[in-house]
Amino acid sequence: MDFKLSEEQELIRSNMREFAAKHVDPIAAEIDENSRHPAEVFQKLAEGNWLGIPIPQEYGGAGADRLTHVIAVEELSRSCASTGFTLSAHVDLACTPILLFGNDQQKAKFLTPMAKGENLGAFALTEPGAGTDVMAATTTAALDGNDYVINGSKTFTSNGPVAGTYVAFAWTDKEAGRKGMSAFIVPRDTPGLRVGEHFKKMGLRASQTSEMIFKDCRIPKENLLGQPGQGVQIAMTTFDHGRMGIAAQSIGILQAALDEAVQYSKERIQFGTPIARHQAIAWMIADMATDLAAARFLAYYAAWLKDQKQPFSKEAAMAKLFASEAAMKHTTKAVQIHGGYGYIKGAKVERLMRDAKITEIYEGTSEAQRMVISGNVLR
Ligand SMILES: Cc1cc2nc3c(=O)[nH]c(=O)nc-3n(C[C@H](O)[C@H](O)[C@H](O)COP(=O)(O)OP(=O)(O)OC[C@H]3O[C@@H](n4cnc5c(N)ncnc54)[C@H](O)[C@@H]3O)c2cc1C
Repeated sequence: MDFKLSEEQELIRSNMREFAAKHVDPIAAEIDENSRHPAEVFQKLAEGNWLGIPIPQEYGGAGADRLTHVIAVEELSRSCASTGFTLSAHVDLACTPILLFGNDQQKAKFLTPMAKGENLGAFALTEPGAGTDVMAATTTAALDGNDYVINGSKTFTSNGPVAGTYVAFAWTDKEAGRKGMSAFIVPRDTPGLRVGEHFKKMGLRASQTSEMIFKDCRIPKENLLGQPGQGVQIAMTTFDHGRMGIAAQSIGILQAALDEAVQYSKERIQFGTPIARHQAIAWMIADMATDLAAARFLAYYAAWLKDQKQPFSKEAAMAKLFASEAAMKHTTKAVQIHGGYGYIKGAKVERLMRDAKITEIYEGTSEAQRMVISGNVLR
């Protein structure tokens, strides 16, 4: 057993830390306040070849392993969870299904520009009536000559308003059940595709979330991803990868909460002593550091399994479940440690607590992760 990261992984961690401290920390509060997509940061990430870390070099990526990507998302999220998640949604939810299920032509045409950072990707599965229950979707794709014509609407699409390429899901044969949904690559400028409502959110405000409306949206047959009817499998495989990204995001949030709690508790004096010397506070910090370490081990282990080409679905769900619940629990404690000052806008812990909540909801709620894990354990 080897717990040591490779030189490349350590280098990516320190480079991403430096990048985030220089370019993201100074604007993190502002982009949260204004719900602004930091396009200038993504321009710089593209220049640094950060937008396709685990994508092979032949498709424009950096050709690193999944663990390296997880570390990069973690470090970026430590400065700003929205920015870290925007990167994760692009790589894990949009580039990854094209890498795994696309043909050579699709990889050259769509994946390569995405991995180079020429445009961002988004993943459009959820619908107003179909969240956890993916099978309740109603969007359809009808074959018409050499085209598929997509009709329906998706909701909560991350990167929706800023993406150039969408991986979208629609029924091609509703009667076939799990084998009747298909996945499609839809470029932003396709007639009939429109960005609907932009959602205002409790946290993760610099990540852009919108409806996506498909009205007689006609795409060539060549844009079918994988085989007809493979959509559910593509979506579930994509989630396995995305969950490692959300675990990484949660760990970044948790690390930031610990950093803030440690610093504040050493500086804040009450009853003539730094509050860190009150055992109640010190124990909160002990629990926070312990859960952070456990979350990191789970996430790195899932990514390591993926890199070893071993099954990792259960471990990715465990990592996401544990890390997201730890992030929510301990950002709340970090606010507690800051007392009233933690509740005031401008305190970083206030943003961290709002940002943490979503990690328990998207890419499968905590309840959905427990379904995946128990399904594996009880098999
Ligand atoms: C900010 C944000 C970004 C998102 N980004 C994307 C994206 O990029 N692409 C995309 O396709 N989707 C995205 N989503 C959608 C997200 O994945 C869903 O919100 C999530 O899967 C839950 O679906 P729902 O909101 O419809 O809740 P529901 O499925 O209605 O669930 C409501 C509650 O019931 C529980 N529940 C449901 N079914 C069961 C069950 N069988 N057993 C026990 N409990 C159950 C849930 O756990 C939850 O607590 C995003 C959502 C948000 C808020």
